[in-house]
Amino acid sequence: VFVVFEGGEGAGKSTQVERLASALREQGRDVVVTREPGATDVGARIRQLVLDKSESPAPRAEALLYAADRAHHVATVVRPALARGAVVVSDRYVDSSLAYQGAGRTLPVSEISWLSSWATGGLKPDLVVLLDVDPGVGLSRVDARGQGQDRLEAESRQFHERVRYAFLDLAAADPKRYLVLDAARPADEITAAVAGRLDGLLAA
Ligand code: C5P
Repeated sequence: VFVVFEGGEGAGKSTQVERLASALREQGRDVVVTREPGATDVGARIRQLVLDKSESPAPRAEALLYAADRAHHVATVVRPALARGAVVVSDRYVDSSLAYQGAGRTLPVSEISWLSSWATGGLKPDLVVLLDVDPGVGLSRVDARGQGQDRLEAESRQFHERVRYAFLDLAAADPKRYLVLDAARPADEITAAVAGRLDGLLAA
């Protein structure tokens, strides 16, 4: 089973990924926690390139770098784990590219979709948990962690709004695959909602 967490900056994805992984491990399940970009050695180098503010890659180059990270990630981490029956929980996946490189950078979403599908060999998550957050709230959460300056001020508020609505549109188009939760809810409630939805999938 392949579960992905998506959402804007400061949505609390990494906290929820960890909480879900602990809950599943307590049930005795084999769980692989991973993320994009940067889960592999190759990916860590790509992550440095895409997040380097001294020379940001041009939008199409950026899209290709995220796709390269994802292609390597899927081939070397996600598919092998799924093949042995593990639950894979990833912090970001294809929707982040549709939202950030597509809606955010205004590249054609259909092209990013095609590129992502090529990179992954068509691997789709069984469940996408979208932690929806107002960009103002999310950005101030990240700011409070001291990561606001370099990572976020490069992009406009409008950029983050486009990203947010792109995530919501993707979820609305495929409700069976998505669980949309308000990231402002208490962390415990979010974890319980995710676990509840996942129970059904794991029992299937
Ligand atoms: O999820 P995490 O905070 O590690 O993401 C790092 C940064 O990479 C975020 O600021 C996000 O905006 C950016 N990103 C992106 N396109 C993606 C994935 C992440 O712009 N496909």
